[in-house]
Amino acid sequence: MQEQDLLAKITALTKRRGILFQNSEIYGGIGGFFDYGPVGVEMKNNLKRMWWKHMVDDREDVVGIDGSIITHPRVWEASGHVANFNDELVECKKCHKRFRPDLINFAKECPECGGELTVPKKYNLMFKTEIGVVEGEKVDAYLRAEACQTIYLDFQNVVDNSRVKVPFGIAQIGKAFRNEITPGKLLYRSREFEQWDLQFFVHPDEMEKWYEYWKNDRMDFFKKLYRKHENLRLRQHADDELAFYAKVAFDIEYNTPWGWAENEGVHWRGDYDLTQHSKFSGKDLSYRDPHTNEKFVPWIVETSGGVDRTFLYMLFDAYEEEKLANGETRTVLKLHKDIAAYKVAVFPLVSNKEDITNKAREVYLQLKSQMRTMWDDRGNIGKRYRYQDEIGTPKCVTIDYQTLEDGTVTVRDRDTMEQKRVKVEELGEELK
Ligand code: ATP
Repeated sequence: MQEQDLLAKITALTKRRGILFQNSEIYGGIGGFFDYGPVGVEMKNNLKRMWWKHMVDDREDVVGIDGSIITHPRVWEASGHVANFNDELVECKKCHKRFRPDLINFAKECPECGGELTVPKKYNLMFKTEIGVVEGEKVDAYLRAEACQTIYLDFQNVVDNSRVKVPFGIAQIGKAFRNEITPGKLLYRSREFEQWDLQFFVHPDEMEKWYEYWKNDRMDFFKKLYRKHENLRLRQHADDELAFYAKVAFDIEYNTPWGWAENEGVHWRGDYDLTQHSKFSGKDLSYRDPHTNEKFVPWIVETSGGVDRTFLYMLFDAYEEEKLANGETRTVLKLHKDIAAYKVAVFPLVSNKEDITNKAREVYLQLKSQMRTMWDDRGNIGKRYRYQDEIGTPKCVTIDYQTLEDGTVTVRDRDTMEQKRVKVEELGEELK
């Protein structure tokens, strides 16, 4: 398959199967904003649940928060976003298309029509809004450009009002907004997206150790999620890419149809963020160790990834087209089973036989109480399999004439397409 085709095919599949919709499509759409459809929202919730389980539930040293999107405007001065969160933009004088110079290799000519490009101009990527309703009393504010800032804002509250001790982490999944100059490639670069962040607070002497730990742990997470590990790598930032406070930084990258691209950053933030917020707020954000009584500003290891970007890479990873013996091609999403929107689909072989429908409803209701189950009695069995393959449902169960005789059903596997007969009483165990 041509690599560029993969993005087009996934774009078509996600729309066809209710995974993703262009936001405001009936008005012609709006660049960089997407809606998750009935299947997509389940997959996305499962993805976030998988992250939360890995980062919070399965650990004893990480707690979560859910911070608000609008914060005090000074936050973005302290973080450096007001002064520095800029991208450059050039415009073609002929076709008026706009580009980020770094994404077109700093070309002098328009990559679309060959026209002359303007000199680069800087734009701040934060979305501005206003708090208050009375003219003259309104205050400018920003939609958060990165979700992690709320974690620094809540650091002291978490230390004072929960049972954590350094080393510990605060995790959050939440929306971020960036007025990207060139949104595109489906969810890859959008203007409204979700991030999953961990800020892990450590004693400065232990920074090296924890940085290594999180680099490996985050790779383990993605190895669990993706099937094709050859498309996953850690890339160390070159010196000129590093933030001035960072001793080292790594990106976890995925090999997309357009080459290696960032999936998540593992950042050495040192004491930069707490010190900055301490300076701007006037509040002491240091920590006193309850055992040694030592007072220090904790250093931070950050892991910051995009939920939607991971969602897209996960689709690249799962998508397969397979030639069947009858010459047809089937499209299948070989998703991690925990991510699939439905774990099983139940079909009556025919929809006009009351005995079969009744038995199938019985099986459906039994499974539904244990796992997410879809009922489908539309079209023929072949079409139903095709639909379930394309949304990545791991198993399909068909109730047929034989079921009425011997109480067995057909269980069909998404990946191998193998079918076997299983007793209804053993279905729950079989599908576990
Ligand atoms: P990029 O260089 O790709 O724009 P970034 O280095 O600006 O990303 P960070 O600020 O480190 O990204 O944000 C952490 C994560 O948030 C990224 O690894 C990415 O997965 C996600 N992310 C950032 N910007 C976007 C966006 N516009 N759309 C979707 N996801 C994004």
